[in-house]
Amino acid sequence: MSKIPVTRSSMPMFEEYVEEIRDIWDSHWLTNAGPKHEKLELLLKKYLQTPNLSLFTNGHLALETTIKTFNLTGEVITTPFTFVSTTHAIVENGLTPVFCDIDPVTLTMDVSKIEGLITEKTSAIVPVHVYGSVCDTTEIDRIAKKYNLKVIYDAAHAFGVKIKDEGIGNFGDASMFSFHATKVFNTIEGGCVTYQDDSLDKVFTHMKNFGITENDSVGYVSGNAKMNEFQAAMGICNLPHIDNEIEKRKRIVEQYRYKLKDIPGIKLLEEQEEVKSNYAYFPVVFEGAEWDRDKVVEFFSDNNIFVRKYFYPLVSDFDIYKYKYNSNDTPIARRVASQVITLPLYAALTTDDINKISTLIEQMSTDY
Ligand SMILES: *Cc1c(COP(=O)(O)O)cnc(C)c1O
Repeated sequence: MSKIPVTRSSMPMFEEYVEEIRDIWDSHWLTNAGPKHEKLELLLKKYLQTPNLSLFTNGHLALETTIKTFNLTGEVITTPFTFVSTTHAIVENGLTPVFCDIDPVTLTMDVSKIEGLITEKTSAIVPVHVYGSVCDTTEIDRIAKKYNLKVIYDAAHAFGVKIKDEGIGNFGDASMFSFHATKVFNTIEGGCVTYQDDSLDKVFTHMKNFGITENDSVGYVSGNAKMNEFQAAMGICNLPHIDNEIEKRKRIVEQYRYKLKDIPGIKLLEEQEEVKSNYAYFPVVFEGAEWDRDKVVEFFSDNNIFVRKYFYPLVSDFDIYKYKYNSNDTPIARRVASQVITLPLYAALTTDDINKISTLIEQMSTDY
């Protein structure tokens, strides 16, 4: 029986990549803002419709470096319903994450709970457009202005998403995108930050290169987070296919929705008004008492289908954080983490696969 993985990285044709990397052999320019890097940066500014963008070797270091660049102090309000990278990026900067509960419909930060968490020590909000589901950017903006807080979005899942035709990277002070192999758009590993303040161009360039500001001069204590030419070449090859890939994902999501709409006790992410989605993930929340999420995962795996408990456990329940946090303080996030899976979703997923997956869920719902 063939296996259906939860995701499958998008790749260009082999020949396309070989053609793209040919110049690298001629030039011997492998990294440090080479021509591929510069070209991808321009292409992405255009695609994401954002004036300022800086490439990184991965999304995590893009986020960590961005937080560092804003010189934050004290506490940062964020969501526990995310990949652990978001929280680590805050902690690695010597800051204290303060977890805000999530909205049960969008699964993003519940904006009505942010103000109650603000203290004299709060310096920023780091919300996550989780699964590509967009945060309430208007309300987050209002709160940030009122309390003079920075807003840095983790937009790792939101490549190509738009709100009312505005690129998602243009909200808040900055946004981080991940180009990891498993994301909608990939550069093998990679990421970027988009930002409002153009004067940060140079700062990001220096920050991702050991804080070196010019010859013989170092302006910051910082690490190495540069994207290399092979990563950039992969991005240059993948980008022309991205609209087509997103369109295929859209059709898959529509088929899933249609197949699963009448199954009792499960909840799907709703389409958001005036949002152009990238169909990055297809989460299903098994919220009815008749369901046992872990048994669902097992049943799928017995049938050679690999789904993911994404995100479980909640970040605040990981050993390294749980001594300090009580996940009962964010009850909705805690509940959803115990009930959610993401179904297989990638451009090459076939209608047969979708039918097989949906039928298994249907079968489980009648077996219970
Ligand atoms: C993938 C991801 C990251 C980290 O990005 P990398 O490119 O893998 O370093 C951060 N936050 C979220 C929500 C992610 O899904």
